[in-house]
Amino acid sequence: MKKRVLILMSDTGGGHRAAAEAIRDALYLEQGKDAVAVELVDVFRDYSPVPLKYVPEIYPRWVNHSKTSWGVSYNLSNTRGRARIVSTTLYHAIENGLKRMFREHPADVIVCVHSLVARPAMKALMLRATRAPFVVVVTDLVSTHHLWYEKRAERCLVPTRAAYDTGLETGLQPAQMRVTGLPVHPHFVRSLTSKSEARQALGWDPTLPAILLVGGGDGMGPVYRTARAINERRLNCQLIVIAGRNDALHQQLETSNWNQPTQIYGFRKDMPVILAATDILVTKAGPATITEACIAGVPMILYDAIPGQETGNVDYVVSNKVGVFAPTPQEIGDVVTGWLAEGPESLRQRSERTRALGHPNAVFDIAEEVWHYAHMDAIPTDRLTLWKGMTKATRAFTKELDL
Ligand code: UDP
Repeated sequence: MKKRVLILMSDTGGGHRAAAEAIRDALYLEQGKDAVAVELVDVFRDYSPVPLKYVPEIYPRWVNHSKTSWGVSYNLSNTRGRARIVSTTLYHAIENGLKRMFREHPADVIVCVHSLVARPAMKALMLRATRAPFVVVVTDLVSTHHLWYEKRAERCLVPTRAAYDTGLETGLQPAQMRVTGLPVHPHFVRSLTSKSEARQALGWDPTLPAILLVGGGDGMGPVYRTARAINERRLNCQLIVIAGRNDALHQQLETSNWNQPTQIYGFRKDMPVILAATDILVTKAGPATITEACIAGVPMILYDAIPGQETGNVDYVVSNKVGVFAPTPQEIGDVVTGWLAEGPESLRQRSERTRALGHPNAVFDIAEEVWHYAHMDAIPTDRLTLWKGMTKATRAFTKELDL
């Protein structure tokens, strides 16, 4: 019989869906579509009442327009007690939707890739007589919120040692957790080529060092000013700037003059090829971009981080010596100049160090774990135990009456 996998996610930022699709496609690749059926559900958009239904729309606006207030809310709620209040409140708001969701999507294993969903989903599952095994895949890299850690989950797969340690602090057992790395789509690893092949495919100069500037999928942060700061240095390099889905930025970049060979792109679907061709990445501290850069062996200069879930990403990159933090275009220009002046051998060493931090097999390790739990029997909940206990007592009572 086909195993059914239900992945709980929400489109708050691109990372949760990307992780969910990566796990789904790794399962299909490893097990085949005849053996497994995977469903992705956006818990907020599809199963929550107004205004929670609009969380996917509200989240990017909040983060982009009021970063500080987002950071304060994130940090204030990130204690054991407060996380419990947040998850209980959220549970009561979406309880009916969660119950309906589990009725409409029966599964042999449930995978959760969203911090806000993990605990309310488990609470709703505990109302059933039996529940499917529950696997949490943490998709923030380092500064992981307490909300991620659901003690009753069978497995909690985390991207870094820091995320593992936070899990222990919140009360999870070592045997419940495993450091797998963040899931990156199987297509990414399979599409990585040698630098020369990648440059040929992209039409870049085969010998000039390549600096790639990218502000996540949405071209966020001071991308234009940073590109101009690098441009002013008149370095012996080629510059590639990805505006992502930011059309205004794309337009602004396209109409500027550049001192070195420069490529301007909109949103690209061939990021593995682009990273394979790159020597230095300048980017915001997005978990997916950092993870992909590690797998591709591209050292990085970080210019920004979303306060809260991305703050630790900067420490991770800096403490592992795979990059630096340079918060202004001027500082970025200085670092790029310094790294290029150190010469190609130094860049090669930086690249090797970065690659050593990557987990290219993470998504397959995660898919194997999910597959393992898909074969586990349904788990009786407290509710079933209580019910059984009550029927026993009722039976005993009836016997007494007969006497
Ligand atoms: N990305 C892409 N094409 C682009 C720019 C970015 O596919 O033109 C991908 C990038 O490879 C990464 C994701 O978008 O997988 C960005 O995720 P990250 O967590 O770094 O930042 P976010 O955009 O979610 O804030």
